[in-house]
Amino acid sequence: MSVVTRFAPSPTGFLHIGGARTALFNFLFARHHGGKYLLRIEDTDRERSTDPAIAAIHEGLNWLNLTGDDEPIYQFSRMERHAQIAHQLLEKGLAYRCYLTTEELGQMREKAREVGHPIRSPWRDKPTSAAPDAPFVVRLRMPETGATTISDAVQGDVTVQHQQLDDLIMLRSDGTPTYMLAVVVDDHDMGVSHVIRGDDHLNNAFRQQQIIAAMDWPQPIYAHIPLIHGSDGAKLSKRHGALSVMEYQNMGFLPEAVNNYLLRLGWSHGDDEIISQDDAISWFDLSAVGKSPARFDMDKLTAMNSHYIGAASDDTIIKMITSAPLTPEMETRLRLLAPAIKERAQLVTDLPDMADFALSPAAPVIAEDAKPILGDDMLNRLSAFATAYSLNDADIQYRDPEAIKAWLNGWLEDQGMKMRELGPGLRVALTGKKQAPDIVLILAVLGPEETKNRIETVCNK
Ligand code: GLU
Repeated sequence: MSVVTRFAPSPTGFLHIGGARTALFNFLFARHHGGKYLLRIEDTDRERSTDPAIAAIHEGLNWLNLTGDDEPIYQFSRMERHAQIAHQLLEKGLAYRCYLTTEELGQMREKAREVGHPIRSPWRDKPTSAAPDAPFVVRLRMPETGATTISDAVQGDVTVQHQQLDDLIMLRSDGTPTYMLAVVVDDHDMGVSHVIRGDDHLNNAFRQQQIIAAMDWPQPIYAHIPLIHGSDGAKLSKRHGALSVMEYQNMGFLPEAVNNYLLRLGWSHGDDEIISQDDAISWFDLSAVGKSPARFDMDKLTAMNSHYIGAASDDTIIKMITSAPLTPEMETRLRLLAPAIKERAQLVTDLPDMADFALSPAAPVIAEDAKPILGDDMLNRLSAFATAYSLNDADIQYRDPEAIKAWLNGWLEDQGMKMRELGPGLRVALTGKKQAPDIVLILAVLGPEETKNRIETVCNK
């Protein structure tokens, strides 16, 4: 059997982080089996499925590199095909026209609730000759006896007695197909072999299976994955933080980190945490998807992000720092700086801030909390350092941290000065901040002239 999976989001405004994980699992499963991963936009709710909402889904999937292998299918455009199937089932006597009015249905629903049975319309057994000239819905004739067991690849065997299932509506009174019908017809026509989706759809699976059985179509394999919960164990909602995938981009997360984190959220491979996409493809398996809901943990996601920033190339890091064209001097500075700051950044958005001292040509604005470090004694030491450092000693390779370190250690020793008596002040004078990369690196990044200018600026204030 060739594997075909699909991600079938209803465009409701943005790509939800849970939806992204469903997409990822479908993608990985298909890739693992050398199959196809398809995208279907379930845009039949005409009020919510606006163009911006659809664009938002594509934007999120593009960012995560989870776009489908073929052109996306738009469910709404297939309405006629859906209706055609309902009519076929009517012709075969496996579905029936139900003329119950809204009031009658309301009464039946109440009764059904009292006895704990699903609704069976009286029209199920009435001859067609009795049909009035009135609006009707088309219902599937559910079997009344027996049971259906789904061998779910995640949930295991789940059984439902047929008497629990109501005669589901396939066509509404205005002739439009319902979601339940559309999903089944589309999955069949797209050749979907594995339906991997949130476990909130498990109940639908039993109903959908009946349509599939009535059509005598092959049943797909189901895998209903537990929903994502927040850190407190409640279903993930706004109060737990961002739900939209694109918000994670805005916060400074990398798509590789989000994918790796989502993969680990509900799926495991031993103790492996950092998993490359190639490994994910070769290892992914539905049997290792957990049965209980995983908890979203922002700290863990941040730690993963920090890993992926650290693993990015210096070129990538430089692009993350600024998109502006760089002068050769700025390029030299950022190349020196990139390896150090990528080790320390947790978010992409940290990078420009960590590098701004190197990019701004002017002396830095000294942060309020850093000012007390620049007392008179410190300024004297800085001044002495600037004078010595500006002596154009031929041995100093000003851009080489190792050479600078050796010179600095020698000079400190000559002066009888400890590094901690100079370092904090030097850092503040050169970057404006208390927290900054290693002082030797800062000196290398700025070069001798800029270093001297910045020290002079603080000493002359
Ligand atoms: N459109 C449904 C949703 O967004 C998914 C349907 C399915 O996967 O079968 O929840």
